[in-house]
Amino acid sequence: MVSASFATMIPARAQGPSVTLTPAVVEAGSPELIRVDAPADATLEGEWLGQKLAFFWSPDRQAWYALAGVDVEGAVGTSSLRINATLKGTGGTIDLSRSIEIHEAHYRTGALTVSPKFVEPPPEESARIQAEIALKQKVFAASAPEPLWSGDFRAPVHAAPTDSFGTRRTFNGQLASVHKGMDFRAPTGTVVRAGNSGVVVLARPLYYEGNCVVIDHGLGLYTISMHLSRIDVREGQHVSLGERIGLSGATGRVTGPHLHWAVRWQNAYLDPAKLLQMDLDSVR
Ligand SMILES: [Zn+2]
Repeated sequence: MVSASFATMIPARAQGPSVTLTPAVVEAGSPELIRVDAPADATLEGEWLGQKLAFFWSPDRQAWYALAGVDVEGAVGTSSLRINATLKGTGGTIDLSRSIEIHEAHYRTGALTVSPKFVEPPPEESARIQAEIALKQKVFAASAPEPLWSGDFRAPVHAAPTDSFGTRRTFNGQLASVHKGMDFRAPTGTVVRAGNSGVVVLARPLYYEGNCVVIDHGLGLYTISMHLSRIDVREGQHVSLGERIGLSGATGRVTGPHLHWAVRWQNAYLDPAKLLQMDLDSVR
C-alpha cells in the first residue's frame, strides 16, 4: 500500500523512541498492537494490566511490536502501560511509560436456554470438569516464546459472524456469564480452518467446550474453536493459516450447531472481530 510504505519512510526515530497503540481508542475486549519505535539493538521491557509484554522486532516495519489486549471484563478507567527501552552503546534507559484510558465497550445482553446439565453439572461430572480446568491452565501457561503467527488473521469459517462477543447472558434464567468469543452461524460439517499459523496445544473433547481445538500463536496469544463435530488435528501439530482443523458442530454446551471462536491473550479474552480487522501484514 502506498500510504503504508510512505509512512515507514518518515524518520519516526528522529524524535527518539515513541509508543503507538492500534486501535488508538482502547476498549474492554480490544486487542492492541503496541508499536515502539526504537533501534533494532535496543532491549525492551514492558508490562500492562499485570501482564509482561513480549516485544519482537519487525524487520519489514523497522520497529518493535507486542500484541496484547484488554479482557472483555477488564476494568474501565486509567491503566498504566510501563515500557522501558535500553539503548545499546549509550547504555541509557528511556522510560516510555504512559497512562492508557480504557473505555467501556457497549456489548449486548441476552438470554439462552441450554440443557440443565450445563447450568448445574451433575455431581458425577465434577471430577472431569476439575481435571479439564487444570488441563486448560497448563495449556495456557506454556505459550511459545516467540510469535508463531504471520500476517493478518483470517476468519476460521465461511459463515456469517454474529456480534455476540461480550454479550452478558443468562442461562435458563439463572446463571449469568459473559460470552467470551464470536459465534459463526455454521451448519454442522462446515470446514473450520486455522486463523493463523501456530501449534495445536489442545485437541480433544471437553465438557463445556465440546470437541475443542486450541492453537498457540506464541507470546501468550491463542485462538480456540469449540463445539466441533470432528477434530482433524492432533496436539503438537504445527498448522498454517487456513489449514483445516476440523468440522463445526454442536458438541458441549450449545443451543444448536455453530462455531464458537475465541481469542485469548494471557488471561484476557479479546474481541475476535477486532483481531480480524487488524492490519498485521509485514508486522511479521
Ligand atoms: Zn459462543
